[in-house]
Amino acid sequence: MRRISVRCPECGETIGVELNDSALKRASTSPSGLAAIVVVHRGHALIVYVDGEGNVRATSATSVHDARILADVVPVPSPRHPELRGLSKEELKLFAFCYGKAQLRVIAKAAGIPYGRARILAEKLRNLGYLKELRKVVEG
Ligand SMILES: [Zn+2]
Repeated sequence: MRRISVRCPECGETIGVELNDSALKRASTSPSGLAAIVVVHRGHALIVYVDGEGNVRATSATSVHDARILADVVPVPSPRHPELRGLSKEELKLFAFCYGKAQLRVIAKAAGIPYGRARILAEKLRNLGYLKELRKVVEG
C-alpha cells in the first residue's frame, strides 16, 4: 500500500490517494496500461489514472449530484478473475474502474455508461467471475 498526493482539477485541493497492489496489478495487466482510481470528496469524484508503476498519468473530475448514490453497490473485483480478453470493450471499461471501493453510480458516470446499463454489466461481470461481489452500500 502506497499513498500518493494528487491535485484535484475540480477544486484544486491536494488529496491523499491510497494505491494498493491490486490497482497496480490491474494497471499492468490492462490493455491501456492504466487503472482508474475514484475518490469521492466535496460532492464530486476525482478520477486518478495510474500506470503499473504507480505514476499518475492523468486526472479528471466529475460531479456527483445524485443523492441516491448512498443506496448504491460497490463492485468488488475477484482477486483471481478470468482472462480479460473475454470481455467486450464496454465491459473492460467498466471493470477498469472497479477496485472495491468506488460505488457503481460513480463508476458508471466516470466510464460514461448509463447507470442502468452499468448495473446490468456489473451483474454479468459477477456471474462470469470477474467481480467477487456487488457489496451493498450501508446508508447512514
Ligand atoms: Zn476536488
